[in-house]
Amino acid sequence: MSLKFTGTYEELKQKLGSLTGTWDDSQTGKKVLRFDEGVMNWYESTGTIQFQGKGGGKARLEAEVPKLLYPEENTDSLIATAVASVNASATLTVTKATVESLEQRFLTTGINEGELVIGIVSAVGTESTRVIGPLTDRLKGFGYTVEDIRVSSILPAPASASREYDRIKHYMCEGDKLRELSKNNAILAAGVAQQIAQKRGGAPTKKAYIVNSLKHPREVEFLRKVYGDGFYLIGIHADVKRRHRFLTEDKSCTQEQAHELIKIDEDESFDHGQKTRDTYHLADFFLNFGNNDDPIKNGLQRFLELIFSHPYKNPTFDEFAMFMAFNSSVRSGDLSRQVGAVISRERQIIATGANDVPQSGGGLYWAEMDPETGKVIDRPDGKDYTREVDSNKETQASIINEIARTLLAEGVVTSEKELDLARLLKESKISDLTEFGRIVHAEMDALLSCSRAGIPTVGSTLYCTTFPCHNCAKHIIASGISRVVYVEPYPKSRALEFHSEAIELKSELNTATADNGLVKFEPFVGVGPRRFLDLFSMSLGSGSKLRRKNNDGSTVDWDKVIAPIRTPLIPKSYLEIEAAAGGIWNENSNATPPFE
Ligand SMILES: [Zn+2]
Repeated sequence: MSLKFTGTYEELKQKLGSLTGTWDDSQTGKKVLRFDEGVMNWYESTGTIQFQGKGGGKARLEAEVPKLLYPEENTDSLIATAVASVNASATLTVTKATVESLEQRFLTTGINEGELVIGIVSAVGTESTRVIGPLTDRLKGFGYTVEDIRVSSILPAPASASREYDRIKHYMCEGDKLRELSKNNAILAAGVAQQIAQKRGGAPTKKAYIVNSLKHPREVEFLRKVYGDGFYLIGIHADVKRRHRFLTEDKSCTQEQAHELIKIDEDESFDHGQKTRDTYHLADFFLNFGNNDDPIKNGLQRFLELIFSHPYKNPTFDEFAMFMAFNSSVRSGDLSRQVGAVISRERQIIATGANDVPQSGGGLYWAEMDPETGKVIDRPDGKDYTREVDSNKETQASIINEIARTLLAEGVVTSEKELDLARLLKESKISDLTEFGRIVHAEMDALLSCSRAGIPTVGSTLYCTTFPCHNCAKHIIASGISRVVYVEPYPKSRALEFHSEAIELKSELNTATADNGLVKFEPFVGVGPRRFLDLFSMSLGSGSKLRRKNNDGSTVDWDKVIAPIRTPLIPKSYLEIEAAAGGIWNENSNATPPFE
């Protein structure tokens, strides 16, 4: 029995007053009572009482202390009841074997027959066949058959497809049209789901469906709702120069046609248009083209091994740092988006940053817990929501109003054109201005953390969940940071043009360039933050636990043909699994469940 006393030290001394031992309260957090050669330790924070020492003293303490503390209770019978309840519950315990069989049937352990749905997101002009080919080959190595789901195949085919430009443009327009008519930006994903159902043709087997390619964030959200953690999105990065070259040289587009397709694909201004740029950063895994295909092949192999529960695949420092940057972003209370940053030197994280409002004394506002009430509150007028308006948008609107009013007053524009004028000004670059926001950007927050702590930033690396804006970029250059790694593109940033002499976009892997002293900006490669725990944590991901050694200490073997998927698609609903769990309980319990 574990004996506890939850009162104060004074009360304890009073209750044990009849014992003639000596008290020792010289130690922090622990009070000691010595009696002959016996010792009683009382730990203040937990209330736990332990007996040590030897001889009659210890035996006496063990016998007397429970009686003195709890005179009205029969402590002997307390021990007996505890043992009895353990025995009783043992008869009610569902045996391990049956629980495992439930998991094998429905849940997350031991499934190596599950299906996989893998989406691809890449901008137009990306040679995605260079990824899909090796991905298909490698999936076969895991014992899978592969079904290609081309999103374009669910759209009406073009009447004549003589030119590649016409063909690509045709499918872009058809996709837009369908999203607009259905008033549903995820409509193509619904078509994809139907295709998968048709290609399955029976009970689920070891089949992988590669969906090429997704163009709208709603499509990704939709497939994640249907397939849950069994859906994986691969983002393939290819810089605009490379895509332009591919479209003109390999697909016979003119310079203008290539330019037009790339622009449409990235972000059409209307809501139901293609939004590849907003879709890319939702990926679980990021790839980047190198001079040869090895980085793609090896990257895919590692990603698949992680999906198939390889126990010895650990994160790179870049993956770890980007995960930490993402974690940092989550503290942000910004009204439009959460951005995170991390600065590292010699593979050691020296600062984190997020985008939020600064507070006097340094740093950004945290939510604070009131120690009296336990309520977590934000400081009045602190975070932006407490002022009920985004100062940046408010100021943009007042600038637009002021220009419109002046032009009207001066007679430059007639009053019939007033509405057009307001609309045109709103669509101008005025709406891209960010300087009237109260928010400190994540990159700057991380840099300022270094300055507060007196840590030099020369030669360090900055990881940021979003491509830095031109305002942060100039400060990044000035701080001496030598490398910047980012996930999400940020089209409003003019950093590369404004600072072309100081920044180099290192968009292709393994391009061996001599160190020219420029700040290198690189797209992130590897497992993205949203799957970091699922794929690298041994026990905290949403999938099954990972085991690395056997009971005798030897490392476990891993065989890709029988390896289970860590977060498999479960072909049953929770209602069916719940019913099966109830069945197992009824079969194995011979007493009324205690919760009834
Ligand atoms: Zn910025």
